[in-house]
Amino acid sequence: MTIVHHPPDELLTAFAAGMLDLGQHIAVATHLTGCRHCRRVVHAMEHVGGGVLTALPATAMSPGALAAVETRLDGLAPAVATGLRKAATGITDVPGLPPFVRDYPSSSWKWIAPKVHLRPIRMPEASATRVFLLKSQPGTKMIEHTHTGFEMTCILTGSFAHAGGHFGPGDFDFGDGATDHEVMIDSSEDCICLVAMQGELKLNGIIGRLLQPLIRM
Ligand SMILES: [Zn+2]
Repeated sequence: MTIVHHPPDELLTAFAAGMLDLGQHIAVATHLTGCRHCRRVVHAMEHVGGGVLTALPATAMSPGALAAVETRLDGLAPAVATGLRKAATGITDVPGLPPFVRDYPSSSWKWIAPKVHLRPIRMPEASATRVFLLKSQPGTKMIEHTHTGFEMTCILTGSFAHAGGHFGPGDFDFGDGATDHEVMIDSSEDCICLVAMQGELKLNGIIGRLLQPLIRM
């Protein structure tokens, strides 16, 4: 697997600093599982961040701080148990999906456009970022579209091309609202991607406007 496209540095920095929401975190972590280069970058950033923390002057803890942390940990216990129960209905039939994502519950594939199916991944906690799997058949030309927010795409199988380059397994494609996407699936197998997205997808052109009411992500 030769990885050509990586997340922007700002995104890796935010990941290392723990500033991403769960949906964004899943997308970047999916890329990191297959990309040694980005894992090294993140480790270097974490090392720098740890050095900054170590250099800060020591501050006395407020009275009751330890008890407050213990109370919060007690409150987390039911959520962990719920997560384990949901793992029984996780995703076991998608090649290339990292093991940590397979544990999330998901519904079945649903048709959203000709030759394109979508499978939502349910988050255990509220997240402004939606995560889903997108499966496109070979030869599919995705309808030209833009976003009102950002879109992170991790390619699991197959490949596609658009004006930004050619993307294959392990690659990471970051699009923001300014990106015009006209995507062509150019692999001989299904192209399956993990997508984290905020905002809405806006389809362009007459066909896009006809299909727009059918798109429910
Ligand atoms: Zn990378």
